[in-house]
Parts: sequence; structure tokens; C-alpha cells
Amino acid sequence: MNIRDVNLRDEQKSRQAVRTTAVKVLRSDDLIGDEKAVAAGLLRANPGFGNPHVVRCNWCRETRTLFRDENDGPFKLTAHGWRCTPCDVSASSQEIKL
Ligand SMILES: [Zn+2]
Repeated sequence: MNIRDVNLRDEQKSRQAVRTTAVKVLRSDDLIGDEKAVAAGLLRANPGFGNPHVVRCNWCRETRTLFRDENDGPFKLTAHGWRCTPCDVSASSQEIKL
């Protein structure tokens, strides 16, 4: 294993931690201790991430929490935001600020 692999894995871990907290903030779920501050700190430490977005297709109701450089599930990032590929419609997206 080389150092690049470790960094890559840490980034994925950081993104996942922020994603989990962002969903809780959006749903107004109870946060554990300083979870929100930790997530905000991870975003500050990784300015390249940007804020996560809730991406939703109003047609098939699929939802994902994505950073602005991510594709997941049916959603493909385009120059004008995400698009739900199977439905062939633009998805709505809402930025989550931590
Ligand atoms: Zn859809």
C-alpha cells in the first residue's frame, strides 16, 4: 500500500462522514455531540469538496446526497446540475450548509 491509497481512502471517509451529518441536519435529526462542528471542520479542511447537495428526481423520487463532483445512482452530473438518467429529466438539488 502506498500513501496515495491512504489519502484516497481518508477522503472517502471524510466525505461519507459529512454526508451522514448533512442528511441529519436536513431532516433535523438529533446530532451526536459536536458532530455538526466536526463535519464543518472536515469541509474547511477539504475546500475542494464544496457543500453536499440533496439531489432528488421529482419523477421517480430517487434521492442521493452528493458532492458537486459526484455521480451516483441514476444521477449524472451535467453543466446544469444533475440529471436523472432513466427519467431523462433534470433533478432538483438543494445545497446543505453545515
Ligand atoms: Zn428519475
